[in-house]
Amino acid sequence: MIDLHVHSTCSADGGANIADYARRAQELGLVEVGLCEHADFDPRDRSYRYLDLACYDREMAAARAIAPEVRLRQGVEITYQANLEAELRTWLAGKRWDYVIASVHLVDYDDGWAMVSEPSAVEAYFGRHSQRQAYLPYFEELLRAARSGLGDVLGHFDLVKRYGVAQYGRFEPASFADEIRAVLRAAVEAGVGLEINTSGLRQAPGDPYPGLTVLRWYRELGGEILTVGSDAHRVEHLAAAADQALALARAAGFSAITTFEAQAARWITLDDLEARKAFLQPDGG
Ligand SMILES: [Zn+2]
Ligand SMILES: [Zn+2]
Repeated sequence: MIDLHVHSTCSADGGANIADYARRAQELGLVEVGLCEHADFDPRDRSYRYLDLACYDREMAAARAIAPEVRLRQGVEITYQANLEAELRTWLAGKRWDYVIASVHLVDYDDGWAMVSEPSAVEAYFGRHSQRQAYLPYFEELLRAARSGLGDVLGHFDLVKRYGVAQYGRFEPASFADEIRAVLRAAVEAGVGLEINTSGLRQAPGDPYPGLTVLRWYRELGGEILTVGSDAHRVEHLAAAADQALALARAAGFSAITTFEAQAARWITLDDLEARKAFLQPDGG
């Protein structure tokens, strides 16, 4: 019913325009869809200086006219890098977004950088290092991202497992419990939320970013801000596995999920979402 992690052709890797998502959202009866185009500030990134803000505004306005019943939110996904924090802060300060997702895609390893969101991570680093050497710097950067307070939510919390699972096997959060809890604590203190990013379910991990264990820890530590996103880069993935995400949120101890308008959090209860779904699908189909 809600999807707050969607990329259109305003991102370098997006495969559909915002109007296409709006039409699909209307067909599916979605309550709310949030675009969060990539804003990248490192020349190594595919979306480096790709985002055209005027074009993004124009396409949002056109899509709102196409699907007036769907609340369309305009967000941004920044690639958090500690070495670029000042630049990121300055750039964000002059903009008005519904929400900001801060994600770690690039990791500064001791023998070079690796793009953990791409298969090249295996060749660049994972293939020659232990799981600890590969994952620890990722979670350290994520800790800095949480502390920075630059995002309203942290994107795909344990993305490092995307290509890591092929190298090291299934990701067990318990192996990094101290490091992960430190990030979660910092997020709660900074008022930064998490998302359940369902793309991991259709990718190698077969589990969202993050899975149930991390979500439970986040809840136990006082976490309340939790969004749901598909990380769709094409229309077919819009709201993918949203039902599973809501069930997971409930299993982790949440009774509501979060959306944002002008960076102010708002909660929608899981009961309300389920009632709406039952209304739209009276046959249970
Ligand atoms: Zn991302
Ligand atoms: Zn994304």
